[in-house]
Formats: sequence, C-alpha cells, structure tokens
Amino acid sequence: MPNKTRMLDHGGFVHSPKVPMEPAFAGYLHQADQLYDRWQRAFDQWNQSPFSLEALAEKKSSQQEFDVFVAAFADKYTLKFVERDPRFLTLAHFFSQDRPIREGFSVLHCTVDMPLHTVCSFQSRDELERINAALDEKIPLPWWQNGPLNHPCYLFGQWIWELKPAEIGASEKGIFLLFEQTKEKESQRLDKLRSTLSHASGTESRDFIPETVRVHVWRRDGGKCAKCGSRDSLEFRRLLPANRGGGNTADNWRLLCGRCHQKQLTTGA
Ligand SMILES: [Zn+2]
Repeated sequence: MPNKTRMLDHGGFVHSPKVPMEPAFAGYLHQADQLYDRWQRAFDQWNQSPFSLEALAEKKSSQQEFDVFVAAFADKYTLKFVERDPRFLTLAHFFSQDRPIREGFSVLHCTVDMPLHTVCSFQSRDELERINAALDEKIPLPWWQNGPLNHPCYLFGQWIWELKPAEIGASEKGIFLLFEQTKEKESQRLDKLRSTLSHASGTESRDFIPETVRVHVWRRDGGKCAKCGSRDSLEFRRLLPANRGGGNTADNWRLLCGRCHQKQLTTGA
C-alpha cells in the first residue's frame, strides 16, 4: 500500500476561484511560466547534446533571464509570502472546497527562493473529470511531483500517495488495484477511529457528575451503597444509563458498591 504524504498541504497552490485574478498577477504569472518553460527546454536540449556550444549558450542565457526575473519578485511570490496570502489556497484547502470542481485551474508552485510558477494545469473537461474522479477515490491520478522519497505519486481521495519501491513500475491495472486496497484499508482505519472516538466520548459523559450533584447524592445515600449499605468500593452510578436517556440530575444517580453494580449489570435489576 502506498504511503500517505502531506504534499497537498505543502507544495502546490491554487489561485482562489473566489478572488478575481489581478491583471498584474496574471501578467507576472504569464512571464514566469514562459521564462521557466524556456529554461526547462534549454536545459533538456543541453542534456541531450552537452557538447553543443549553442545549447550551452541558450541554457546560460535563459537561466540568466529567469534569475533576473526571479530576483525582481523574490520578496513577493515566494513561499513565505504566498503561504500568508489569502488569494492563494493550498491544494488541500482547494480540494476540500465545493466539489465537483467545474472551472479549470492551475497548480502553482514555489519554494523559498523560487517564486510562483505554473507546474500543471487542469483546464479541459476531460482533465477536470479525471481530477474529480481521483478526489472521489474512483481512479488514482499520476501526480506531477515525486514524493519525499523521490518515488512517483498519485492523487487519490484527499491525499497524495507515494509508491513504495516494490510498487514502482506496476501496470495501470496493478496501480488501480493497489489503490482499491488502500481505499479498503483507509475505510477500516476510519471506522476504528470513529468507534474509538464515540467510545471515548461515551466514557466522558458517563463519568461526568457536577460537583453539587455528587455532594447531594453522597449525603442522601449516607455515604453507603443504596442497595446493601456496604461502604466498599463505592461508585456513583446512574439508574438509567445516559445512552437510554438517563439524565445528569441527582435523582438519576445513586451510590452503589462494586458487588451491587455487577449484579445490576448482569440481572438488570
Ligand atoms: Zn451494595
């Protein structure tokens, strides 16, 4: 089963669909994307033909141009500022909003020293359908970014999942089955969590007795078991349990010793 990551909280941003995009920012983003694309292309070209002087020159000049641009915005759209800017939503936030997503959107990325630029875009109807299906746990969708261990990742439900080494290279069908299993395990995990939580809150309401009620019941019952008069292992017990509508007032509480309480539990008396 792939590993759940926190990549939706840290990594990509989306320009909030509820805030109109300022022309200045749209202009900035357009230029950033163009420069970044050019640099990426030049870098790939140079990778393929590392001895070409032409490729080297293009790589250098595109990098320089991108660096100048980055420096000009270094205090504006970098991580530190974007994280606090309400125009930009983390992907986790964006994906948990109104669904299905109907309007095209772009995933923007920035790091401490690299300002925002577009890393992937979901614009066509087909792309939006796929992202909605992934969010609804119908299909795993390959993610643009590798995970913390540098393994391929998938969007599935509200999480980005990173493949384990043994899972890398699985067929499309294999990956699909992997995530079907993940879904199963997740729902089991959530069920368990839910029952633990409801058990915990049940315990709390059972054990909580207001101080005034506690004092009143203790005095009324004379500090001894209301049934047999024993003073051993006394506890405050409800006549009618909370889950059957028993209240929290003095007339629903009494003192019982351990033995009478046990008897009451087994016989219902
Ligand atoms: Zn008793």
